[in-house]
Amino acid sequence: MDKRNQIISQLEMNKNISDSELAALLETDINEAQPDARTEASLSEDSSLDLFLFESADRVRKNVYGTDVYVRGLIEFTNYCKNNCYYCGIRCGNSALSRYRLSREEIMVCCRTGHKLGFRTFVLQGGEDDYYKDDILCAIISDIKTNYPDCAVTLSIGEKPYESYKAYFDAGADRYLLRHETADDEHYHKLHPESMSLQNRKECLWNLKEIGYQVGSGFMVGSPFQKTEHLIKDIRFLQELKPEMIGIGPFLTHGDTPFKDQKSGSLELTLRLLAILRLMFPNALIPATTALGTISPDGRELGLKAGANVVMPNLSPVQVRKQYSLYDNKICTGEEAAECKGCLERRVISAGYKMVVSRGDFKK
Ligand code: SF4
Repeated sequence: MDKRNQIISQLEMNKNISDSELAALLETDINEAQPDARTEASLSEDSSLDLFLFESADRVRKNVYGTDVYVRGLIEFTNYCKNNCYYCGIRCGNSALSRYRLSREEIMVCCRTGHKLGFRTFVLQGGEDDYYKDDILCAIISDIKTNYPDCAVTLSIGEKPYESYKAYFDAGADRYLLRHETADDEHYHKLHPESMSLQNRKECLWNLKEIGYQVGSGFMVGSPFQKTEHLIKDIRFLQELKPEMIGIGPFLTHGDTPFKDQKSGSLELTLRLLAILRLMFPNALIPATTALGTISPDGRELGLKAGANVVMPNLSPVQVRKQYSLYDNKICTGEEAAECKGCLERRVISAGYKMVVSRGDFKK
């Protein structure tokens, strides 16, 4: 058996491998320095490695989740953000963007539509927007839980004080997504302004865990200045945190950010990392992200085949979708929720899986 296939088998069996073995899997086809130097033989070696890796990841996901794919109705309720992350299209420094906020009533309309379509999880996602004070957010959360007691509420609204996280949890929020983006301090500072810190981000994640949320974290693949050693640190941090959900996606450029001239991340490396994460975290809820679908027309199908088990159709009102512009050319900004769900369902079926009506909680 090829050495790298042996590493994959070992990863499947032990859910862990060494740093050098991780590097051997991550670096195989990423010949950044000399992209033209790749031979046909190395290309085909790499695709057989990927095939073996994806098949192993798929086997592991099927052992835990069968062919079920969970659906999350994504409600992007505000594109205001007080932060200025260098990679993000809705950063406060982007004056070219027109801003919006959804009212409590508008959010409830999204939930009503989503519930009729069979969604049993609503993800409230937004920038860090202090307009929504804790009492407003708690009222929205408890409204959703009262009207749809069979549904889970996931929040994705950034860094907040412990008391705020606790208040949302007490109001009924079940899950919280907060990607750490990079677990290397120096790299973190190359992606974020001075006012932000990896230490605070990590502290937020630990607080969320302590409160009792199902926690999601993750990182960008191919972000500017990223090296293999950073990716290994990201994986090691996730092993320490043990999140229930893991979200990764390729870095994609946005024309109105300081990183507009940087190169986007690659589909191949994102898929490979996704599969590695599935092998390390057999029970994790891992989405095939919109960013994957943006980088490649069949990116989400490939993500599912590489171990992902969650999709997130957009439930936000169509008139605001384009304004939630995290990166350029974002897909799914023109369709109504029902069309979005139908399109995703067809993709899920074509990849060999089935979309289920379920809260889709983490299986312990
Ligand atoms: S990445 Fe998040 S915190 Fe940073 S600017 Fe964008 S929305 Fe705000």
